[in-house]
Amino acid sequence: MTVDPIALERAGYPPIGPDLGEVAISPKARATIQLHAERSYPEEACGFLVGPAPGGTENPRQIDEAIPSENERDGNRTHRFLIPYQEVVRIERLLAWGGKAILGYYHSHPDHLAAPSAYDRDHAWPWYVYVVASVEQGHMTELNAYELDPERGMFHSLSQEEGTASHSTHQGAARP
Ligand SMILES: [Zn+2]
Repeated sequence: MTVDPIALERAGYPPIGPDLGEVAISPKARATIQLHAERSYPEEACGFLVGPAPGGTENPRQIDEAIPSENERDGNRTHRFLIPYQEVVRIERLLAWGGKAILGYYHSHPDHLAAPSAYDRDHAWPWYVYVVASVEQGHMTELNAYELDPERGMFHSLSQEEGTASHSTHQGAARP
């Protein structure tokens, strides 16, 4: 599901290209993003998207987990986000042990569309998955995934496939 192009233009957001591929987001990762985004409202929440380290065979990319981050951007935390560099290094060290990697980033748009702003586009890197969640009046209403096309300088949407949560070690306790 993608944002209506007319609503996008009306809100002053840059246009989004057609689906570039697929991403699988686990229910667990989705739940973490929702909780973080709703708790942070009316400020923006941001964090990491984590999955198996890329070996070239993952299709679609599998987001197993979302890890909340501090939002370092002072002053305007409702429309800007900045993940501290030290946080990136810390998370990457942590993940290296388990063969996982940062596959992308998520952030919320309080009372705004679930689409990347011009600011988001100007600060994005190629290859990564960018998840943008819309939070209306404190409730997450939409969650979309995007990838930057560096040649055209625009985001394309990624279609979402419901991922499995079976990689989660926390679910072991629930087994009989
Ligand atoms: Zn944004």
